[in-house]
Amino acid sequence: MIPSRELPVLNVMEPIVSHMFEDHFEKAGILKCGCEKCRVDVLSLTLNRVPPRYTSTQAGEAFVKALYQDSQLQSDILRELAKAVQVIEEHPNHS
Ligand SMILES: [Zn+2]
Repeated sequence: MIPSRELPVLNVMEPIVSHMFEDHFEKAGILKCGCEKCRVDVLSLTLNRVPPRYTSTQAGEAFVKALYQDSQLQSDILRELAKAVQVIEEHPNHS
């Protein structure tokens, strides 16, 4: 790997998926396991399935807010989160 400076870009799906997981799954108390390992596994599995949307870090916050209002995007993410939760609950990687 060639060391590189951190890119000033952000995949806005990361904060959106993370917030939606918190609101719709963690706070709802419907998870079989709330450990950090399962949480990270669900988030990475979901982020691998949802197409990334990159923006500059400066424009980030407004762009995230705008996308977050997109109901089609919300339902796509919720569907992928639900699938990922099911996969990780059936095959947890925690010890
Ligand atoms: Zn766990």
